[in-house]
Amino acid sequence: MAQARSVVRIIDPIPVMEGAGVLLKRSIATRTLDYLDPFLLFDHFGSDDPADYRAGFPMHPHRGIETVTYLLAGLVQHRDTLGNAGTLGAGDMQWMTAGGGIMHEEMPGAVEGKMEGFQLWVNLPAKLKMTQPRYQDVAAKNIPVLQRADGVHVRVIAGMVDGVRGAVTEIYADPVYLDVTMPAHATFEQAIAPGHTALVYVFEGEGDFGDTRLANPKLGVLGDGDRVRVMTPARPVRFLLISGKPLGEPIARYGPFVMNTRAEIEQALRDLQNGTFVQK
Ligand code: MN
Repeated sequence: MAQARSVVRIIDPIPVMEGAGVLLKRSIATRTLDYLDPFLLFDHFGSDDPADYRAGFPMHPHRGIETVTYLLAGLVQHRDTLGNAGTLGAGDMQWMTAGGGIMHEEMPGAVEGKMEGFQLWVNLPAKLKMTQPRYQDVAAKNIPVLQRADGVHVRVIAGMVDGVRGAVTEIYADPVYLDVTMPAHATFEQAIAPGHTALVYVFEGEGDFGDTRLANPKLGVLGDGDRVRVMTPARPVRFLLISGKPLGEPIARYGPFVMNTRAEIEQALRDLQNGTFVQK
């Protein structure tokens, strides 16, 4: 399928209260767009007002999915039932494979100033839903950067750009996750495997994705093709480009658990009640 991908759907993020009272902008996991296989949820949190984020996400479970946190500003402190603990700062990211079960908390590490970032949920295939939990924590300085002479700047979180390989590897969805900054009057083209689901999320400025102009904040779902072409005729833009292999499996979803069947969700709830949820 040798053709550039075009925007086939434009999603306006909607305000949502999540966790213990965190105000964020949600583009996937809404009535408008419930699931973009394999992506289950996409949130953009960002505020200068600590009242919007200080309640954080106290201890909560996950099973059957991966949660991907990418922070632009502020601090997030996390700890979990496996004994992991750490702090994410500006530019850091964490790709957490919950697998069979993890309980963790994600709390703001400072309650002043600006906090901004993203959380993406990636579905796991049936055969990996009960896999061992795993973290890939990547500090900002270890995220490969492609700096082009024309001013285009790409942080390669996952995937490959001009021979630069992303920081996160060995993920079932074979993801691309790029943070792309373009000055005005630039062009950027990126290969994306045909058949893979792809989206862009514009969070600063505006740009043309194929023939469609997207201005902050917008999520654009891309149709099929082998690449995406972005141009900035007038203004700079900053966006995430995310793609992954769709699973094509049934999903049963209940809050932080995403399995294939209702019975598996009921099992997760029983495990939680019985104290057998966390996989050792
Ligand atoms: Mn979580």
